[in-house]
Amino acid sequence: MEAPDPANGQPDPRLEQLRGRLAAVQRRIGDAVAAAGRQVKPPRLIVVTKFHPAADVRRLAVLGVTDVGESRDQEAAEKAAQLQDLGLDWHFIGQLQSKKAKSVVKYAGSVHSVDRAAVVDALAKAMAAETERTGRPPLDCFIQVGLDEDAGAHRGGAAPSGVPALAEQVAGAAGLRLAGVMAVAPFGADPAPAFEKLAELSARLTADYPGATGISAGMSQDLEQAIRFGATHLRIGSDILGPRPALR
Ligand SMILES: *Cc1c(COP(=O)(O)O)cnc(C)c1O
Repeated sequence: MEAPDPANGQPDPRLEQLRGRLAAVQRRIGDAVAAAGRQVKPPRLIVVTKFHPAADVRRLAVLGVTDVGESRDQEAAEKAAQLQDLGLDWHFIGQLQSKKAKSVVKYAGSVHSVDRAAVVDALAKAMAAETERTGRPPLDCFIQVGLDEDAGAHRGGAAPSGVPALAEQVAGAAGLRLAGVMAVAPFGADPAPAFEKLAELSARLTADYPGATGISAGMSQDLEQAIRFGATHLRIGSDILGPRPALR
């Protein structure tokens, strides 16, 4: 698909569709922030573009989106290379294999899925080389926590009891910045208890690491509850881009 050219005046129905859905999500975010009844900074909106073409990411940039999320390294690396001119902030949000760390640090400003010691080691090593090569700023690392009571519904992440050790490891690694915590709410259950638990974990983390205030939570289905429990970063895909092929 041809990338849209905002200057050529051609009608682009997909751009208009994205504009409408993005505005609707932004209204929901605004309403939820207001309903939270606190003077909170509105959370940062990361638009999750996995499975959708680079041309859609370009359209989103035209609409003012600055942060995009991807969950597969190969797809993300290709899009980031094609869209370098846009200066977007790329967030890696998917399960990360250690061997992909070298590639991820070439385009990502943040990794939201840091969930085990081997991944921290791999990212630290990759960042040492990348910093030397490019002088890039530190990589923001969110520790992904698994909040499922039921292991069968597991959607990734470290056990809550493992957070302090991972936090210490990230905080001690040159090139990595401890940004906070991340979670995906359990499937088919009320997300509120999970987000409440995540907020408690975040409070404990920031007691030791005052800069690690990030709470990456909230997807299309549950952004209101995530905001209610203090999310600082939302990861919204399908309510803006529409359905994507089912994950294998
Ligand atoms: C795909 C994905 C999202 C976006 O989910 P939607 O329900 O499409 O908004 C958010 N976070 C993670 C980790 C994802 O893999």
